[in-house]
Amino acid sequence: MQDLHTTIQLITQKLIAYLTQSREGEGKVLVQQPPAQLAASLDIEQLLQNGGLMNGRAGEFLDAYLANTQHMHHPHYLGHQVAVPHWSSGIADLIHGLINNPTSIYEMGPAGLTLEAALVNWMLQKTGWFKGAHIGDFSSIPGNGGGVLVHGGSLANLTALSIARSVAAPEAWTEGHPANLVIMAPEVSHYSIARAVSIMGMGKKAIIPIRVNSHEVMQADDLYPAFRRIKENGQKVMALVANACATTTGLYDPIDEIAGFCRENNIWFHVDAAHGGCALLSPTHRRLLRGIEKADSLIWDMHKMMQCSALCAAVLVKDAKHLHQAFRQKGSYLFFEREEAALDTMPYTIECTKSALGAKLFWVLASRGEAALTTYTDSVFENTRLFYEYIKTLPGFECPYPPQSNILCFRYTKISRENDWQLRLRNQLVKQGDFYITSAEMNGIRYLRITVMNELTGLTHIRQLTEEIIKAGELM
Ligand SMILES: *Cc1c(COP(=O)(O)O)cnc(C)c1O
Repeated sequence: MQDLHTTIQLITQKLIAYLTQSREGEGKVLVQQPPAQLAASLDIEQLLQNGGLMNGRAGEFLDAYLANTQHMHHPHYLGHQVAVPHWSSGIADLIHGLINNPTSIYEMGPAGLTLEAALVNWMLQKTGWFKGAHIGDFSSIPGNGGGVLVHGGSLANLTALSIARSVAAPEAWTEGHPANLVIMAPEVSHYSIARAVSIMGMGKKAIIPIRVNSHEVMQADDLYPAFRRIKENGQKVMALVANACATTTGLYDPIDEIAGFCRENNIWFHVDAAHGGCALLSPTHRRLLRGIEKADSLIWDMHKMMQCSALCAAVLVKDAKHLHQAFRQKGSYLFFEREEAALDTMPYTIECTKSALGAKLFWVLASRGEAALTTYTDSVFENTRLFYEYIKTLPGFECPYPPQSNILCFRYTKISRENDWQLRLRNQLVKQGDFYITSAEMNGIRYLRITVMNELTGLTHIRQLTEEIIKAGELM
């Protein structure tokens, strides 16, 4: 145990230095060595064969390891939608890593599972689906919302669509799904939707793509003709999926109008709010999710905008009974009759063993308070708007739409309007390592894409970014 004590002390010191330097914008955001070279500098082979990491080598190893990480806390990190985690989430990871209580069945971790259940209630309050007296109220109330935490948004989408299928075609679990079952989803839904549908054995052809406008937003008006054709073809809609927000653009589909269409036609309405669910916390931006209470299910990633380390994703349903019906299997060693109602999540998840996912969000909320996450959302959303106002005035730069969230697409067309050139420009910037950004195609046009995950990213950094883009463009 003495070893543990000294190692934790050493590692904590190094991590604090890493976080401080990253936050201050010291050094590159990313240095990418070729993997073989990195394997050698980390001394992987020798360490695996002989061990001894804890005999005075942990510090040196960690230095080399941290030098070769993506520096999420650096204000120049503007890449994928992965949280810049609050350090309290890391504390939850450490605790879980040492005690290892999976939150699948109550007996295996009563405290962890209670945190998870309370946080699911907290989230259900945000969607308007909670009927309990307070978030520690776990009693079963007819018509109450329900939910589980799972390992990531992709698994969350698969879980939610499985629930939708069990409602539309309860016989699917034993008989296989009916051949005429389809899903309506915007052409630009996240790829995990298509994966889920194929994994469920329905085939990608079961997705009826709904056209989107020039900014890739689905319009409620386009649902009616599509639905008419579906009915003419003798098909049955299992669910309709909407983006809140879309991954490429950060723009929200009109939830309220789509909910109206789903109600009229008795269609399960699933909202993919993996990224944009955070707007539920903000009085200013909540309107982007107006009508959410009319949806049937929603997914929400805590490891994107809720400052939790990966992974922690929620699947929420308006009526818990649908969650309870989704997976009809029995495993006698796990699902035996219990005397008391337990909070077990295993009957409702694809995973068997599961990490203490709720603990991360608990530590973040309990350290910072809910208001801090509202402030965070507002601040990165508003900064992105500011960056848009700035970038669109620069000669040679184009922003195709005003942002609704913290995702912004733009392109630098002074030298070339070719899609391929924008991609090469992005790769050049990433190779230089001073900024980390992504690139995406919208409506057939390739853009540079930034996601403002970091509260510390300000206009000065964006000014530097655009200067670097201009310079990189000249070199190409
Ligand atoms: C990120 C994202 C997902 C996938 O979530 P993971 O946690 O990365 O698996 C699904 N849908 C949307 C809209 C997303 O932005």
